[in-house]
Amino acid sequence: TIENYDVIVLGAGAAGLFCAALAGARGKRVLLLESGERTGRKILISGGGRCNFTNTGTKPANYLSENPHFAKSALARYTPRDFIALVEKHGIAYHEKTLGQLFCDGGAHVIVTMLETECREAGVETRLRTPVEKVEKIDDGFAVTTPSGVLHATSVVVATGGLSIPKMGATGIGYDIARSFGLDIVEPRPGLVPFTFSEAEAERWSDLSGLSAEVVATANPKKKQRTPPPVFREKLLITHRGLSGPAVLQISSYWRHGEPVTIDLAPGYEVFLHMLEPTTRRDETTMLNLLRDHLPTRFAERWLTENAPPDWKNTSIQRTEALVHAWPVTPAGTEGYAKAEVTAGGVSTAELDSTTMQAKRVPGLAFIGEVVDVTGWLGGYNFQWAWASAFAAAAAL
Ligand code: FAD
Repeated sequence: TIENYDVIVLGAGAAGLFCAALAGARGKRVLLLESGERTGRKILISGGGRCNFTNTGTKPANYLSENPHFAKSALARYTPRDFIALVEKHGIAYHEKTLGQLFCDGGAHVIVTMLETECREAGVETRLRTPVEKVEKIDDGFAVTTPSGVLHATSVVVATGGLSIPKMGATGIGYDIARSFGLDIVEPRPGLVPFTFSEAEAERWSDLSGLSAEVVATANPKKKQRTPPPVFREKLLITHRGLSGPAVLQISSYWRHGEPVTIDLAPGYEVFLHMLEPTTRRDETTMLNLLRDHLPTRFAERWLTENAPPDWKNTSIQRTEALVHAWPVTPAGTEGYAKAEVTAGGVSTAELDSTTMQAKRVPGLAFIGEVVDVTGWLGGYNFQWAWASAFAAAAAL
């Protein structure tokens, strides 16, 4: 006999665990299927092991999607305040680090334990080491195929995440399921990922690996976007292979191959203003000393080796000033899914009902979390999307 459930949730990550608990609490008979050895593996490694579980300033503008309006409804119905209330109910201590980012005081495992407790109390049945192979429509619901057999459910929630960190069990199964129902996918790509330099460029910079600076970074998309890409004032870090740091991770989600990014190395300052005065010496030492106020010495030296003006005319100094504030860098690529915190793109929001997360053409089949073409900035926004989309889906089951 085939086992029957009201809801089968695929993937026990952030979105799947939360959705299963909420659906169970609403009296549904819920089965949660997870391919891995345990639940919430990405939560455990998130936020440097302390899980940046939400951002108090969450707004729809903190997300990328082909449809920037799609996330509005879910984000409005389940807010950071709601998740904080849950965290507090479980007695979890947390703190704000910066820019509204909330982290656990202790390890990220407390968030996983919280979600597992919610699932248990709601009567959710969880099966680990059970990779879902396919989902098919049957008369009164869906058939879910696993290596240990076929299961039936009235509704299926796909919460299998994106392609980032294959080591942690990331697979493209969510996209495959969507495609098997004829749903459109926005080409997935690594997001929140370090940039790599070309070999020649890496040779010029890699010995500075570990140096950082506070910059303003902007992506410069060739393709006109409906909303212009934002600018990020955060840290840039030189690595042995390219560039990283929060400012770079943020713009990487907006970047496409071949495009330059622009970096302001001294935001808000006129670095060489002094040199335009008639009494100031005009030479490389003076220029270096001024730039050193904004960048680590070796970074400033190297940058001037590449970009010092050809002479000391006012216009040349001004041109160098402009270059400091709009330094164009064309990455050779990114470190890929192995290092990407998220996968941008995913199941097209045009296919989904923004209040229920269900496929418009396949009622009863919902997609939540990272598998959907909604990608948050760095700073707790991705988990907030996981919680909010899970809540919207559970409320409609
Ligand atoms: P996931 O958490 O990826 O869960 C998907 C689950 O589905 C996994 O358990 C997987 O094993 C399972 N699965 C896959 N295929 C199958 C299958 N065939 N059958 C059954 N199960 C399957 N975001 C933040 O907001 N704050 C942070 O601090 C933060 N830190 C991060 C740090 C790192 C290193 C990384 C990689 C990401 C971080 N993120 C952070 C992003 C965040 O982890 C994700 O956005 C979030 O986990 C997405 O939740 P999800 O439930 O959609 O997918």
